[in-house]
Amino acid sequence: MIAIIKKDADRSSVDNLVSWIEKKGLQAHVSQGENELIIGLVGDTTKIDPFLLESMDIVERVQRVSEPFKKANRKFHPADTVVDCGHGVKIGGNHFQVIAGPCSVEGENLIRIARRVKAAGATMLRGGAYKPRTSPYAYQGMGAEGLDLLMEAAFELDMPVVTEIMDPRDVQLFVDKGIDVMQIGARNAQNFPLLKEVGKTRTPVLLKRGMSETVDELLMAAEYIMSEGNPNVILCERGIRTFETRTRNTFDLNAVPVLRYLTHLPVVADPSHATGYTRYVVPMALAATAAGAHGLEIEVHDAPDTAWSDGAQALTPDMFDDCMRRIALIREAIDPSAEA
Ligand code: PEP
Ligand code: MN
Repeated sequence: MIAIIKKDADRSSVDNLVSWIEKKGLQAHVSQGENELIIGLVGDTTKIDPFLLESMDIVERVQRVSEPFKKANRKFHPADTVVDCGHGVKIGGNHFQVIAGPCSVEGENLIRIARRVKAAGATMLRGGAYKPRTSPYAYQGMGAEGLDLLMEAAFELDMPVVTEIMDPRDVQLFVDKGIDVMQIGARNAQNFPLLKEVGKTRTPVLLKRGMSETVDELLMAAEYIMSEGNPNVILCERGIRTFETRTRNTFDLNAVPVLRYLTHLPVVADPSHATGYTRYVVPMALAATAAGAHGLEIEVHDAPDTAWSDGAQALTPDMFDDCMRRIALIREAIDPSAEA
């Protein structure tokens, strides 16, 4: 961290600032340039609030030289992290996976949809048993019974399940049921008690980007999970809120290469929530694959017009078959050596 000092600052104020920094356990390197005086802060800069420093009378501005996310940072961990999701399915590095299934677990149709997505080549099954709905009167999910249906499907099809957790008090239930991957949705992206609680397990976490969350905030949310001891974090770009109204969200595909540059964690993209309309899901699934995502999360329903949530963005199993064929072609084109 660097503090650039105002031109008119007197020597004693600079000395006071230097001793304030040193009292925090950091070193302060003062260097007088031709035009400005700069103080370089060396050490554990998490002990310094950059906004507080910038608010000081003699400070012109503060610049960070290293990011506040450490465990998620590629600088300290150059190789891609590969997360083992169970049932022999790994994601990250050269391992690309497609997570597919209905938005909500609704009952006996789950296994029918699951068989179809597996046959099409999906390697992980999704379905929400606890649904974060904008309206308290909308379908809230089957709860623990829905988790059981997911686990039965996982057993029959030998594939890991991904399902959303909303409440820190449910973490033990998810672990006891053997849920393979806990999803933290956009609405809970910065629910810090929840992030910490899943961080105390070793269960992989699919962490979705919040609706108005910056890439840095997403990485700091990952840091919350990792700092509690759980290294198994998978990031997910699922669209952000912008002024555009033609799609449910704006798919920030930039985030895919940006995240791949900044972090070693696997990066998944969700073209279903990012677009909100069935007709746009396949092109954006292909685009996200081409952009270098390590995986996709896609909603599939065998009767979208009767779906209890997000029917408007669901692919039918036939559409999903076609989507998977085209994803394979894109993968082959961008990296012929990549393994599934
Ligand atoms: C979901 O995956 O069904 C979901 C609610 O996603 P998001 O949190 O990205 O809106
Ligand atoms: Mn959904």
